[in-house]
Amino acid sequence: MKIDILTIFPDFFRGPLDYGIVRRAREVGLVSIAVHDLRAFAHDRHRTVDDRPFGGGEGMVLKAEPIFECVESLEVAPRQERTAGRSKQSVVLLSAQGRRFDQGMAEALAAMERIVLICGRYEGIDERVSAFLADREISIGDYVLSGGELGAAVIMDAVTRLIPGAVGNSASTRQESFSGAKELLVGDGPTSTCSSGGLLDYPHYTRPADFRGMNVPEVLVSGNHDEIRRWRRRAALKKTLSNRPDLVQRVTLNEEDKALLAQVAGDDSEN
Ligand code: SAM
Repeated sequence: MKIDILTIFPDFFRGPLDYGIVRRAREVGLVSIAVHDLRAFAHDRHRTVDDRPFGGGEGMVLKAEPIFECVESLEVAPRQERTAGRSKQSVVLLSAQGRRFDQGMAEALAAMERIVLICGRYEGIDERVSAFLADREISIGDYVLSGGELGAAVIMDAVTRLIPGAVGNSASTRQESFSGAKELLVGDGPTSTCSSGGLLDYPHYTRPADFRGMNVPEVLVSGNHDEIRRWRRRAALKKTLSNRPDLVQRVTLNEEDKALLAQVAGDDSEN
């Protein structure tokens, strides 16, 4: 997998590229991440990449030329081939107006061979980048950031950890929050590894079992694996119902889940 990031602040990515799973995945060659300075594609001696908007209005806008020229220098597949799904490449524009990023999108991008992430700045980017160069616009949430760099870092991290081999124990990415809504819910319900199946993850504890009088739930030290599995599933349902009820609506629950959900809902009505 290759990830190209286009930005006017290339140094911004020093931190996100250099730690943990992303760093390891780069070191072992699972992903190659290149950061490109858009100012290198400016044509004047001031390396100007922004300009005032036509029609007037506040602020400056990132110009189209340096972005088009930078993407062209990467020799990605033609846009028509990318958007028709004939190439496993995607050019993504980070934008508050884009489709909201989620685990499903991360999975789709992780299946690509190459993704290009374009970071906007100022009041935004010349619209022709969205209309004629990028394949999709992605937002990382319903708020406005000063630039696309944080969004690109978020996407890069979420995608990299899904590349097979990037996370030591691949089962852990399958049982995380949101994961496997499609793959794991075809009637098989909770498994021995407590796959999240589109719910939020269950709670995790580690030693010491008694920390300042805050004790680990007894079931987790009981050694009874079926009880542990049920407890985790119930806890995942409870957390999801409390924090993200929309997710509970979307998943297919088996009979055991439905019974656990009824218990959880009962707990809440007593509180
Ligand atoms: N005028 C734009 C608007 O109202 O949608 C906001 C521009 S913002 C100040 C500058 C850049 O930050 C955008 O071009 C985009 O690349 C990035 N950005 C801002 N919010 C974002 C978000 N929620 N997700 C992804 N990128 C975002």
